[in-house]
Amino acid sequence: MKITTKINLITTAWIICVLLAVNAVVFFSFMKITVNMEDGELFQKADYLIKQINKDDSQEVIKEKLTPYLTNQSFIRIVQPNSEIANEVTNDPHLASKIKPQFAREKGTARRTIRLKHGEEQIAIVRVPIKSTGQIVGTLEFGEKLVGLETGKDLLLSILAFCTILGAIISLLGGRWLSNLIMRPISNMINTMEDIENSGIPKKIVIQYETKDELQKMAETFNRMIGRLEANLEKQRQFISDASHELKTPLTVIKSYADLLLRRGLKNEEVTHDAIESIHSEATRIQKMTERFLDLADTESGELLEAKLINLVSLCENLFKQLKSAYKREIILHLKSQEPSIMVFVDEMKLKQAMIILIDNAIKYSMDQIDVYLEEEEKFTIITVKDYGIGIPAAEIQNVFERFYRVDKARSRETGGTGLGLSIAKNIMKQHQGEIIVKSTEGVGTEVELFIPKMKAGKEMFLE
Ligand code: ADP
Repeated sequence: MKITTKINLITTAWIICVLLAVNAVVFFSFMKITVNMEDGELFQKADYLIKQINKDDSQEVIKEKLTPYLTNQSFIRIVQPNSEIANEVTNDPHLASKIKPQFAREKGTARRTIRLKHGEEQIAIVRVPIKSTGQIVGTLEFGEKLVGLETGKDLLLSILAFCTILGAIISLLGGRWLSNLIMRPISNMINTMEDIENSGIPKKIVIQYETKDELQKMAETFNRMIGRLEANLEKQRQFISDASHELKTPLTVIKSYADLLLRRGLKNEEVTHDAIESIHSEATRIQKMTERFLDLADTESGELLEAKLINLVSLCENLFKQLKSAYKREIILHLKSQEPSIMVFVDEMKLKQAMIILIDNAIKYSMDQIDVYLEEEEKFTIITVKDYGIGIPAAEIQNVFERFYRVDKARSRETGGTGLGLSIAKNIMKQHQGEIIVKSTEGVGTEVELFIPKMKAGKEMFLE
């Protein structure tokens, strides 16, 4: 069943229930108030009549006194203590015959439903004791057909029934209008989603009216999500194009040397050696590049970090020992405080990877020693890698985190740079909710700072 039909039926059913409840309250209140009023009037009349009757009045005189108080269809009786009628006046003997006389010691009312020629009728009866010298000598019984009540009741029932039907119709129409109003943006969204499903192209929802409600919020959230999806797709496209471009050069070199070997054969030893060396060097470059691609993909995936509390000082000491012997370069560790350990809550492998990228860059783009500083601030632990090399021109600093960006392509190629190192390091810092900052002066040197937020051990870190 469509949601609009559901809303419509539910609201209508609900409105009918409310109307029926209200109608019941109105109906029963009306009945109670009217009956009480009628009883009150009858009591008043009965009290008045009792006062009119004297002990010494003959039956005829009493009849004469009672007769003027008869209403349309009624009877007035005086009932003896043995429930026998002492006197009775009526203008509807049939009605009077249907109601048995009853002696009563207390004032009271009663209701009777009797069958007359033209259907059932409600009769109101009041009984008031007649006292004489402190003794109850009889009861004045007053019976009257409730004409006003019956017609009033019928009229009220018809009005209430009419109002209920009218309410149900209005609710049905209103419900349809309301559910269409609510569903319009949702239908819009469903159409857009179906379009995306069919075409495979992300598409935003057109927000026609500024309603500032939850539905508009939902459409805006959907559009933001699509915006991010578009940006990611664009990033992906750009990456594929850049990566293919990067791989093209070494592959072309490999192919041309392979062609040369095919054409010339392996006769000339010197040429063969050069060709194989170049093929090897370019293949190594491709291998390095693909490793970087994987690292980049890994740091961009939604994988959970394997964070634990580690001693940063020992991590640096061990790492620098390995790098020093591999690169034959001086890497000096400086500690700002005399603390033998600086504890950080990080994914050890990933932090190591980021540090290797920075030290590798410092080695590639400088000749002198490399200084690494560790310091602790209130909110962060900071690792600074400082070199005294070629530096980066001020205008280029903002670009170095872009994928495949290299300040000097030729030099970078010589040193085996891929332009992905700093992007990977930035991703790693982002995963740790940290920061990476590059400060550099051309010809003087470069300083790269890693800000690791201080976190309590055991607190889980998630990727964004
Ligand atoms: P690459 O693999 O080319 O080094 P990175 O992303 O690590 O790629 O660095 C991007 C570019 O930033 C490098 O090509 C280089 O031009 C510049 N760069 C990075 N680190 C340094 C540094 N320590 N000194 C000078 N230039 C640097």
